[in-house]
Formats: sequence, C-alpha cells, structure tokens
Amino acid sequence: MKERISEESDESKSFGHSLPMQAALVCARKAAERNEVPVGCVITSPSGIIIAQSHNEVLERKDPTAHAEILALRAASLKRRSERLTGCDLYVTLEPCTMCAAAISLSRIRRVYFGASDPKCGAIESGIRFFQSPCCFHAPAVYGGFGEREACSLLKRFFSVRR
Ligand SMILES: [Zn+2]
Repeated sequence: MKERISEESDESKSFGHSLPMQAALVCARKAAERNEVPVGCVITSPSGIIIAQSHNEVLERKDPTAHAEILALRAASLKRRSERLTGCDLYVTLEPCTMCAAAISLSRIRRVYFGASDPKCGAIESGIRFFQSPCCFHAPAVYGGFGEREACSLLKRFFSVRR
C-alpha cells in the first residue's frame, strides 16, 4: 500500500500533468507576444480535459483584474454552467497573487499546479499564504515547480527587455 502511494505522488509530479502545464506555457508565450506579463493558465475538468485556457490581458482589457487565473475561472464556470468548479484542477505558470488565490478558493478548485514562485506578489507559498489563512474556507492541494524553468525564463526575458 505504501508503495502505491509513492507511485501516485511520483505520477502527480511528472507525466500526467505535463500536458496542461505545457498548454499554460503556450498561453504565457502568447501573452508575451502581446506585451502582457507572460502568465498562462489552464483549467481541467475532473476527468482531465482542458476546459479553459487564458493568459494575462490586463493591458488589452484595461482591467487590473484580468489576470490569467481570473479569466480562466470565468471561462470554466461559464462552460460548466456553475459557479463551483469542484473537482477541477488549475495550472498556472506563476504563483497566484492574493486576488487570484481568493478567487481559486471561492471556485472550489481541487488542485493548483504552478510553475515559477513569485516572492514579490505570490500568495501561496510566499507573502500572506492565503490558503493557510483563517479567512480561507476552501484550500486546494498545491503543487509548485511545474514547468518552472520555462516559466521563469519567459518572465526573465520579458522583464529584461523592459527594464
Ligand atoms: Zn493574480
């Protein structure tokens, strides 16, 4: 039994989840092409099918809340015709901020996979650690470091051209 658990956690760390994270990285690249901060997000259904993908559109929409996660949550909720995304998983290339962490919690997402850590604005393992705060009533399981290298290099390239 013990072996089986370790097999499952190995699997959740690598193969089964690389496809949605690859799709999220493709979204992040699209954002960079449009001069948006390169962050991409994908949501999968409980059976693992991609039901929403998005990237940051803060500039395009002139909307400070148009982060990749918020747009993906909205699209997935519309698709499922429900404000609750119970059993769905979210993949995002950068550690979510406070606003997105709160929205993820409200939507009842099951698991969050993120790429690069964000010591400045992140709110999962950095900053306020929203999912561990007393005002958080639903905390998803969190797995960091997926596609981290590519997510980091996209962000570095993006900001090195602009600063
Ligand atoms: Zn955010």
